Amino acid sequence: MLKIIKVITSSTMLENALGIDFQNTFAKDLEGLYKETTASVNPSAEMLLVNESLALELGIGLDKLYSKNAFDIFSGNKKPFNSITLAQAYSGHQFGHFNPNLGDGRALLLGEVLNIKGELRDIQLKGSGPTPFSRRGDGKSALGPVLREYLVSESMYALGIPSTRALAVIKTGEQVKRDKSLPGGLMTRVASSHIRIGTFEYASLQNDTKLLQKLADYSISRHFPDTANVENPYLALFAAICNQQASLIANWMSIGFIHGVMNTDNMSISGETIDYGPCAFMNAYNPKTVFSSIDTQGRYAYQNQPSILTWNLTRLAEALIPLVHDKKDESIKLLTEVLQLIKPVYTNYWLVLMRSKVGLSKEDPKDYELIINLLNLMEKNKVDFTLCFRFLAKSLNGNNKPIRNIFKGSKEFDSWLMIWQERISQEGMPDEKISNSMDAVNPIYIPRNHNVEIALQAAIQENNLEPFKKLFSVMQNPYKEISGMEEYSNPIKGSDSSYKTFCGT
Ligand code: AMP
Ligand code: MG
Repeated sequence: MLKIIKVITSSTMLENALGIDFQNTFAKDLEGLYKETTASVNPSAEMLLVNESLALELGIGLDKLYSKNAFDIFSGNKKPFNSITLAQAYSGHQFGHFNPNLGDGRALLLGEVLNIKGELRDIQLKGSGPTPFSRRGDGKSALGPVLREYLVSESMYALGIPSTRALAVIKTGEQVKRDKSLPGGLMTRVASSHIRIGTFEYASLQNDTKLLQKLADYSISRHFPDTANVENPYLALFAAICNQQASLIANWMSIGFIHGVMNTDNMSISGETIDYGPCAFMNAYNPKTVFSSIDTQGRYAYQNQPSILTWNLTRLAEALIPLVHDKKDESIKLLTEVLQLIKPVYTNYWLVLMRSKVGLSKEDPKDYELIINLLNLMEKNKVDFTLCFRFLAKSLNGNNKPIRNIFKGSKEFDSWLMIWQERISQEGMPDEKISNSMDAVNPIYIPRNHNVEIALQAAIQENNLEPFKKLFSVMQNPYKEISGMEEYSNPIKGSDSSYKTFCGT
């Protein structure tokens, strides 16, 4: 009796520590798609970063955020009250090859919480120790990749691109063995959910249509409730996922973002960018850009992202066949019809975004060609993708110099500029207004590779988080130019085509 009272008292304290209530909907509704497990303890853990604004959105007051009990939860040292901690099961096509048994090998879902807007959010620890899915891995993360995900995912969010979020970073105090010994890190990640295309591939592989259906129903109620009441909800679910992902990839393309590992286990059905590993932003425009050290064939190069989108969604379609129609042939026919829409839907999203990047709000059939011609000239002249659009906007305010300079005075570009200015005049709006509208969609700051490296090196090698924090704070307002911050807007001198990024494993 005494023992029970003791447990309840300390558990209640933990619940109050975060001031949130874990709902465990995945655990309750989707048995068969996870394994219950716990985090490794980290006795020498140290809190490095907490995200106050995200905490407030989640209803976690700052007093709770900075409490010892919150630290104990983020460090994996204590399980929150009424949380069923679990590792999710999923399969995945990795670089085109199917791996039936992946799953969270180094992550732990604490459960779901309602944020202050009433939306359900997953809270997950990443780098929390071995799980039943770890295979030969240690279940841990190195601190460098954890800081990288914290920075880049929050930058994506600030850029307005759907993304998982980062709530806290812990330095575990232990070393992890990779090709060398590295300090360990643990991140608390927040997501609309962690359901991946690979989750559906896994469910489909179990030859248990009820399980697959449970996953689809859960996905509908959590992400696409409007599809619940149509004639064929599972086909509508598929179409909704295709739509979200097409929009997401168009957003990546519009901002020069290269995910780096678009394996089906790294694609969230909610349409959020997830699993930041070797991702990076392109500098000089080159559609073949690849940064990931393991992507030797360039499968996930910048220019291939839209076709990989369809490839991945085709794997999802295959997984959904048993749900869409009783007759397999009919199911395939219906799913194929949706698949065929992905390319035009994607192109439409892309065109809307690219039009706004070059200051166009009206539609003209020649806009596509105008934009493609600009991209071709950018490639030919190795023009910085991010600065190009900001300098174009400046040219509308009578300052042609920066844009002509980055095109190195190219005559071809001068001709393009004249055609574009002519097209801009058809908008019937003052140039200044158009210029402002361009600056509102074209960031001046992106997490440039060389700045990310400087910040991570200082954090890891010198225990100095200041460069990281400064870069992070600049990235909170990526569309507003601040004088004196040129080191964050300028590309690296020379080329960064040999820059390599690594998976966070
Ligand atoms: P990722 O490259 O992060 O998308 O991970 C691919 C798969 O490898 C997932 O199933 C991960 O959970 C697993 N994994 C990655 N790193 C580790 C690790 N250090 N220990 C155990 N499993 C891992
Ligand atoms: Mg992954």
